[in-house]
Amino acid sequence: MKYVLPIAGETEKKFLVNKIICIGRNYAEHAREMGHDPEREPPFFFFKPQSALAQNNTDFIYPHFSQQVEHELELVIAIGKSGTQISVTEAADHMFGFAVGLDMTCRDIQKQAKQLGRPWELAKGFDGSAPCTAIQRGALQDLEQYGDLVLTRNGEEVQRGDWRTMVWSIPELIAEVSRYIKLEEGDLIFTGTPAGVGPVKPGDRLCAKLEGFAQELNILVTKEQD
Ligand code: MN
Repeated sequence: MKYVLPIAGETEKKFLVNKIICIGRNYAEHAREMGHDPEREPPFFFFKPQSALAQNNTDFIYPHFSQQVEHELELVIAIGKSGTQISVTEAADHMFGFAVGLDMTCRDIQKQAKQLGRPWELAKGFDGSAPCTAIQRGALQDLEQYGDLVLTRNGEEVQRGDWRTMVWSIPELIAEVSRYIKLEEGDLIFTGTPAGVGPVKPGDRLCAKLEGFAQELNILVTKEQD
């Protein structure tokens, strides 16, 4: 099965998705709201399977095994050129573009996994847990024109953050991840969430955006069919 995302403004070519890398605790305020000290613990990363990917304007199916699903609003970086041990100065060359996504998280399952010392896959990698807009082709300097990340839930603002305040900047996170894992063309990096994560429930309409950016992520939370 091929997992693809549209490329903004292009009809022929699609962005073929390879792996999904997610950065954890990449904003100091969010690390604090989760009970961690950002001064002492650097960000880290984990993965979601390709089957977590969801297209814009689709329903998010609330997973039956969780009672506490939360939104994490994130800037997504799309990788266009493979590499390992990429330096910070070369990192920008590996970017294909960017998008806005949600790292949907079963917080109750994640808490349980933390307590039991188990992996996070069930909490983070379930089907449809990574909705994402079309990919906008662009370089790092193209991103500079955009403002805050903003998430509304049923029209009310619930999360806002300045992606410029990430602990690992975009070049740094490309360099950090590629120290350990090969970055490949088609990889998506969910760059971490700012503070303000919170619950969603069936019937909620989520709208995630980057101020000034034409692509908006619109997701309807629905109940799993029996
Ligand atoms: Mn996240």
